[in-house]
Amino acid sequence: MAYEVPDLPYGYDALEPHIDEATMRVHHDKHHQAYVDKVNAALEDTEWEDRPIEEVLQNLDSLDEGKRKVVRNNGGGHANHSFFWQILSPDGGGAPSGRLFDAIDDGFDSFDDFKREVREAGIAQFGSGWVWVVKDGDDAVSITSTPNQDTPVMDGKTPILGIDVWEHAYYLKYQNKRPDYIEAIWNVVNWEEVQRRFEGR
Ligand code: MN
Repeated sequence: MAYEVPDLPYGYDALEPHIDEATMRVHHDKHHQAYVDKVNAALEDTEWEDRPIEEVLQNLDSLDEGKRKVVRNNGGGHANHSFFWQILSPDGGGAPSGRLFDAIDDGFDSFDDFKREVREAGIAQFGSGWVWVVKDGDDAVSITSTPNQDTPVMDGKTPILGIDVWEHAYYLKYQNKRPDYIEAIWNVVNWEEVQRRFEGR
């Protein structure tokens, strides 16, 4: 069964005014669909076509050399966007609680300091890419970034939060102001889902 773009778990306009409807439509229906179409075409009739995308991304070296780059970019795009839609919510925002709060509290001066470091990592990512919060063992988190559609999953890591900093994620509303987009996205982070992933539930 080929990969499919999952439906958004909310309406296209549900994240307004922080992420606008026009951006969500083109991002989900066009960009994500294109990643899915291209990775499906690359994996068709190979032993990898029915495998979870995360497993494929952890085994790129096993693919034919001529397919590695297209699967890395488009399979990564499929995995990253499927993840991204889930960790956003119109009921999001606020702050985490429980063990995730403790992990952030232990690793950073404050929640605001954590958010500042995420924002700075997102700004520092030159060109297209993602900024991530990954699980570091049971009790800690760290911030990292990747270029293009690379994902910490490729290195066997567990991302719990990811922010798409490709221009297509924000340009219609925020133009060149990536910092404003990152600042706005905190209003729609689905901390319940981020916590679920941190706790491995
Ligand atoms: Mn994107």
